[in-house]
Amino acid sequence: MKKGNINVSVENIFPLIKKFLYSDHEIFLRELISNATDATLKLKHIANIGNEKIKVGEPKIEVKIDKKGKKLHIIDQGIGMTADEIEKYINEVAFSGAEEFLEKYKDTAKDSGIIGHFGLGFYSAFMVAKKVEIISKSYKNKTAAHWTCDGSPNYTLDKGTKKDRGTEIILHIDKDSKEFLEDNKISDLLVKYNKFMPIPIKFGTKEENLPLDENAKEGEKPKTKTVDNIINNPNPAWTKQPKDLKDEDYKSFYRELYPMQFEEPLFNIHLNVDYPFNLTGILYFPKLTNDINIQKDKIQLYQNQVFVTDNVEGIVPEFLTLLRGVIDSPDIPLNVSRSYLQADGAVKKISAYITRKVADKLSSLFKSNREEFEKKWNDIKLVIEYGMLSEEKFFEKSEKFALYPTVDEKFFTYEELFNKIKARQTDKDDKLIILYASDKQAQHSYIENAKNKGYEVLLLDSPIVSHLIQKLESSKEKIQFARVDSDHIDNLIDKNENKVSKLDDNQKKDLEELVKSIIADDKYVIKLESMDSKENPFIITNPEFMRRMKEMQQTGGGGMFGAGNMPDMFNLVINTNSDLISEIVNTKTKKKQERLINQSLDLAKLSHGLLKGEDLTNFIKRSFEIIK
Ligand code: ADP
Repeated sequence: MKKGNINVSVENIFPLIKKFLYSDHEIFLRELISNATDATLKLKHIANIGNEKIKVGEPKIEVKIDKKGKKLHIIDQGIGMTADEIEKYINEVAFSGAEEFLEKYKDTAKDSGIIGHFGLGFYSAFMVAKKVEIISKSYKNKTAAHWTCDGSPNYTLDKGTKKDRGTEIILHIDKDSKEFLEDNKISDLLVKYNKFMPIPIKFGTKEENLPLDENAKEGEKPKTKTVDNIINNPNPAWTKQPKDLKDEDYKSFYRELYPMQFEEPLFNIHLNVDYPFNLTGILYFPKLTNDINIQKDKIQLYQNQVFVTDNVEGIVPEFLTLLRGVIDSPDIPLNVSRSYLQADGAVKKISAYITRKVADKLSSLFKSNREEFEKKWNDIKLVIEYGMLSEEKFFEKSEKFALYPTVDEKFFTYEELFNKIKARQTDKDDKLIILYASDKQAQHSYIENAKNKGYEVLLLDSPIVSHLIQKLESSKEKIQFARVDSDHIDNLIDKNENKVSKLDDNQKKDLEELVKSIIADDKYVIKLESMDSKENPFIITNPEFMRRMKEMQQTGGGGMFGAGNMPDMFNLVINTNSDLISEIVNTKTKKKQERLINQSLDLAKLSHGLLKGEDLTNFIKRSFEIIK
């Protein structure tokens, strides 16, 4: 037997490492299984080259709990290590790697962002074990080697008795890590980190039904047999070629990824590049609702089929974190902090590539079946609008597939919309006004009014729509969006119908004074307009600009005017040509005038959704009085 001293300068780094890695002890299992996988893949590779005569068979990795002995075994059938290799790779490489890690991250290691992504390799076993054994038989050797280390820099290296090729790692689980001797805990970890690793992983056994015998009686239970319980799917869909996969294969992989998700995805995008970086994966568009936050962070990031994280922030553009699926790349540096990651050149390229792929897919879906695409629009618009706002490249590409639906469920591309509105335009130098509604029910009377005048009214109801409108106005020529209940609507009425007023200037002044005294609320700016006599006598509108600024501030950003804290402002537009206004002006008794104005005001408020509480109660009472 050989005894030795591992050459590390920090006297005892184990307690230190333990302390730093406290939150992420569980990654040891992922690391050891990664090593076992690598060793098996290496063996397959050597056998494939054909220089050595090796029987590979169907190697698997086994994880075994020995509750009584308080041990956890990880056994592979890979290339194994000779005693010399153990000295070299374990004593020197692995340990110096750990030491280097410590030196580098002493101060920042508490920032758990780093830890989870740093492959500590073999060394991480000491986070949960007070003693670790390696029993390994190299494919090159007849005898096995047996290495033991108790967590101090001292180790022993001896001959081992192992007969078959491969490596067995035995962890003597520490008192404070007893949870790693529980079946459930280990099984959960295997599912979390190793669900798609390329070598089958066995954990215990299970009973499987045998096919029923031909002469089986009715109701007879099938016989069972005991088989290996294999934890993983070694050939997940994303590692295959798109041409070998059917729609159903993508759907069933989605169910494999999200077993608790009952809704089917809308469509998928298969990612597959090998130059200038390596990346595979499948992204799914799920049905989205308007609540952005709960739907984020469902994409899983893998490195060569090993689960790394489900936080892909910084790797895919923010707007795509609403998608689901898998990204697998060996080129994403994992042992670095997030801010470093965001600045990394390779990561930037990956991000641009994914954005482009998503845009291309959307374009092709739109082109190949516009009707289907329109049907899906409501469920996918949030991602697209979010992307248009945040990624310039995506904004440019979205021209081809971004849709603008109307309240009547017609869908226009921007170009179609623009041309349609332009065709109506009489004054060529003027800005084009695009009318939209955000709520079909609440803005019903305004929508009807605009439609009656022949306007196309869009339905834009995403939470970020005010930002998007702002962006469109600043990047497109000569357009302006206005909500149907905004102050732009009275501009429109004025321009197109150029009516003469029925009231003279004195009458107008008196009317304004009267209304002001009754309404007694400085939220309302009174505007007298000479409109068609059929228009409502009182109309409340909302200044578009102020409302939009407020909305933008509520959904983040855009609050350069501090509009979020401003009180609501409304316009009270009075149609001086309406018959009711004439009647009010000509009524002799002040009392009756007041009653008419109050009633009309309340009706205008009601139509704008502003009549509430005591005002509403009074209105109802007064209305009953009137019809009595
Ligand atoms: P890394 O895997 O990042 O190289 P590790 O500390 O995990 O670092 O392992 C160090 C080396 O030990 C590996 O590169 C490999 O050569 C060897 N090794 C570890 N585990 C095994 C194993 N199960 N079978 C064969 N070789 C192994």
